[in-house]
Amino acid sequence: MPTAPRRFQSRPPAPRIDARPPSNIRGYGHQHALWSERVRDRDCHLCQDCKAEGRLLPGTIADHIVPRHIRPDLAYTDSNGRTLCARHHSLKTASDTKRYGSASATVLTLSQQQARREAQR
Ligand SMILES: [Zn+2]
Repeated sequence: MPTAPRRFQSRPPAPRIDARPPSNIRGYGHQHALWSERVRDRDCHLCQDCKAEGRLLPGTIADHIVPRHIRPDLAYTDSNGRTLCARHHSLKTASDTKRYGSASATVLTLSQQQARREAQR
């Protein structure tokens, strides 16, 4: 009795490598999607940092100017958003982490404490 070659048999799904919880659990639900779309539409889907450097390149990420964990009240405020490309968003995130400490930081430097106080005024 012929059987299907082994290579055509379905495989179980590969385990998820991404250790992060789903986006809706991390606070990126419907309201975030709407905010992100408004910001990117307003910026014509162009990276605003590339534009400032004289290049018109697509931006796919709506970045919070003041990070959400520092000013959760501005999480869905359009004026606290700008469109960035992946490269500039990565640079911005690194800059934010240095300036404010990460969202999960339990120990902050004095300058990070001061930067947080100033952003929360
Ligand atoms: Zn860019």
